[in-house]
Amino acid sequence: MASLLGACLCGGVRFEVTEPFERVAACHCESCKKLSGGGGTVNGRVRTEAIRLLAGEDLVKSFQPAEGSAKTFCSECGTNLFGAGWPKSEFTSVRLSALEEPCEGKIGSHIFVRSLAPWEVLPEDGAERHEVRAP
Ligand SMILES: [Zn+2]
Ligand SMILES: [Zn+2]
Repeated sequence: MASLLGACLCGGVRFEVTEPFERVAACHCESCKKLSGGGGTVNGRVRTEAIRLLAGEDLVKSFQPAEGSAKTFCSECGTNLFGAGWPKSEFTSVRLSALEEPCEGKIGSHIFVRSLAPWEVLPEDGAERHEVRAP
């Protein structure tokens, strides 16, 4: 498989993902709303080892909330890049919004739908729905 390329909004951080995503999930939790500026994040799950930073290592920052895993973003433009505890975790959630090309993967599940905002409507996409996380 060809690597997937990703970059932040300012272009300072560039990375590649060298393995296919195991699954794709849309997270509607309150943290993802805050950090994304929208309904949440859409994430591809991949082994952390399969992510390689190509540029901007000095710009990459991680925020560790009191609960949950660290979220990683570009300190220059604020683009959210990774979740699930990168780089220490075994698996990382790559924000599909940070990819340079559209990802072919369809959303397999919507998680944290209990945190759906009043202004949010779930699409009729046939994907699984979970109140919190997928089992
Ligand atoms: Zn940036
Ligand atoms: Zn979330």
